[in-house]
Amino acid sequence: MKFNIKITKAQNSQLGQVDFDDIPFGRVFSDHMFVADYKDGEWQSPRIVPFGRFEMHPAAMVLHYGQAIFEGMKASKSHDGTPFFLRPEMHAKRLNNSARRMCMPEVPEALFLEALHTLVDLDSDWIPPQEGSALYIRPYMFATDEFIGVKPSATYRFIIFTGPVGPYYPKPVSLIADRQFARAAVQGGTGEAKVAGNYAASLLPAKLANEKGYDQVMWLDSREFKYIQEVGTMNIFFVIDGTVVTPKLDGGILPGITRDTILKLLPEHGYKVEERPIAIDELVDAYKAGKLQEVFGSGTAAVVAHVSKVAYDGFEMELPPVEERKVGPFIKAQIDGMRSGKIEDKHGWIVP
Ligand code: PMP
Repeated sequence: MKFNIKITKAQNSQLGQVDFDDIPFGRVFSDHMFVADYKDGEWQSPRIVPFGRFEMHPAAMVLHYGQAIFEGMKASKSHDGTPFFLRPEMHAKRLNNSARRMCMPEVPEALFLEALHTLVDLDSDWIPPQEGSALYIRPYMFATDEFIGVKPSATYRFIIFTGPVGPYYPKPVSLIADRQFARAAVQGGTGEAKVAGNYAASLLPAKLANEKGYDQVMWLDSREFKYIQEVGTMNIFFVIDGTVVTPKLDGGILPGITRDTILKLLPEHGYKVEERPIAIDELVDAYKAGKLQEVFGSGTAAVVAHVSKVAYDGFEMELPPVEERKVGPFIKAQIDGMRSGKIEDKHGWIVP
């Protein structure tokens, strides 16, 4: 323990009020949170305090100029009850990539990890033991200078809070791609960073997709609206004629940690995998030729979300029923299996 994190324990735990068999997603928060403040060029007074509200100045720069970044990760319990993280250092690295792009200070990886371990250790009773359930973890950072004018803030706050979530069994999602809005610019933008503004910008297109009867947007590239990028807040995979294909990272795509895990695992199990640009026209052609076998999204929340259909230009591509799919169900079982300790982790990804 290097960082001398000061701990103030909550007087009354809220845990007794939570039913682990019925947890509303995103609305239940654990007893404690980690907080550190960046000032005079360094992170100061790292501390764990009771979870609760804090005051903000009306001129706090984040509220005006949007320097705000975040991560999303999970802790779960293996079948013998040991709490663990999956590839936590990847989240520290991605947070710092986002920080650099937003002109914000990095959080030393060792501080990030120590804060994470100390916090989750303290609130480990909040990790639901049920298989498929997890403690969702939200690290985030925002600008706190009280100032009007566009410049990088000199002060920031970094927080990690957590909350239990139930198993995520989404029904297959329907997608629509169109040429009106992009999620993020392909080159020179912020798509490969996990910045709050990207999510704000995605809301209107997502709402329009819902109004047309689709669950999520399949994002196309911002330059030509030709190449597939991601879906909703997930990376995207296709199985075309037996080969697993995912868009190559191009600056506009968020490098998902689940995506990376899938790309490393599949070839080890004999699957042919390609990372390359995929035009929406190629997808339509593959579908018409009967070669589009599977489409699924990947992300921390669902691990794998099967896609039921994709609409583009008035044409609907209906995918085979999930029971007939191989790759998506296989990779979900592999990652869930590692999480529950039932499948051996040969990569050192599981961190107790
Ligand atoms: N793309 C976007 C835009 C996301 O918000 C997320 C969720 N972090 C992902 C992809 C999937 O990333 P991960 O596998 O790291 O959760």
